[in-house]
Amino acid sequence: MASEEDKRRLRERFRKQLRHAVSHEEELRRRQAAKARAAERIDRDEPGWRGEPDAETFAKMRRGGRARRHRELGGAAPPGLPRATVTAVHQGRIELDFAPARVAQRLLLDPDCRLVVGDEVLCEGTDGPRRAVALLPRRTRLARPDPGNPHRELLLAANVDVAVIVAAVRDPPLRPGLIDRFLLALQRGGVAPLLCVNKVDLLDARGLAELAATLAPYAGLDVPAVLCSAAAGLGLGELRERLRARTCVFVGHSGVGKSSLLNALDPAGARAVAAVHAGSGQGRHTTAGSRLCDLGDGTRVIDTPGIRAFGFERLLLAELRAAFPDLAAFASGCRFADCTHAHEPGCAVREAVAAGRLAAARLGSWLRLLGEVDDGER
Ligand code: GDP
Ligand code: ZN
Repeated sequence: MASEEDKRRLRERFRKQLRHAVSHEEELRRRQAAKARAAERIDRDEPGWRGEPDAETFAKMRRGGRARRHRELGGAAPPGLPRATVTAVHQGRIELDFAPARVAQRLLLDPDCRLVVGDEVLCEGTDGPRRAVALLPRRTRLARPDPGNPHRELLLAANVDVAVIVAAVRDPPLRPGLIDRFLLALQRGGVAPLLCVNKVDLLDARGLAELAATLAPYAGLDVPAVLCSAAAGLGLGELRERLRARTCVFVGHSGVGKSSLLNALDPAGARAVAAVHAGSGQGRHTTAGSRLCDLGDGTRVIDTPGIRAFGFERLLLAELRAAFPDLAAFASGCRFADCTHAHEPGCAVREAVAAGRLAAARLGSWLRLLGEVDDGER
């Protein structure tokens, strides 16, 4: 028979457990609510002004600080306001490029302004400090998840037309898994990919044949690829041609040759950037590591620290499926509709690989990325 003391201890433990269970439930509810709120916020943040603003709305936007900062203005812009591209963002200050005059201007802006490089804005004021009064709709966005809040994104750049995914054939080795990751992240923001495989000077004929086999699946995905050597000056003409009159970023593992390629494409680039900084009245150091470089004929390269570290931590299963249409083509033959092609019996995708109708590397890449999909998603 349990003593009074034992019973008391039991009761105490039970109470503690109950308390824990309740608080766990509360915690879950709290998290769910936070998630819903975050999703709502992201919805509200989505760019794209629906309908044209009338004069009254526009006047309100100019008066209201918050509206001015967070709304985007599309359709017919009020006449007469100069349009400019954001070339650098600092604490409380941005630099703008008023094409065709390629001179950066200092603007005074509210400290919590959330503009990014590549944003297009309308400005008012001609003398002294100008004010960005409206943000034009973003055509594309380059973003990564916020490590501090998985339900939010950190916008890195806007209106990027092409992201050049740079990989090296060697030093560091080419990793198709990494290329696939980039493709997925780009798909998220509507940025077109261009695969640039650098350092081909390091390959012999056999290596080149192997490389062609590795890249074959990307042709099937309509991802254009350019073989380059920044060192030997190979393929640079084609790369330059594909980027003509577009705004681009170079992404890829460090050491693959991004800087070498940029320098090869535009040997005068460093000088042009220095001149723009001088025009802003600020020392070069103030914009170190963040620049929008104009290569001429409307070709522009956005290069910021965030973009060099571009990647993503959180994957959605739907995004993953959309990024592998070549697997999906076989998946309709799988026994289970929600087959992950990892271990299920009757998997038509694994059969296709065994029969040589689908590259094993694609399935490998799918499985690697599948391991990174949020558990709650599957
Ligand atoms: P980033 O980190 O991507 O900007 O890469 P870098 O441009 O700094 O290049 C990394 C290293 O690769 C440097 O030592 C370059 O000289 C070298 N490199 C760049 N392009 C080529 C190339 O086409 N062929 C060879 N062999 N080496 C290259
Ligand atoms: Zn399957």
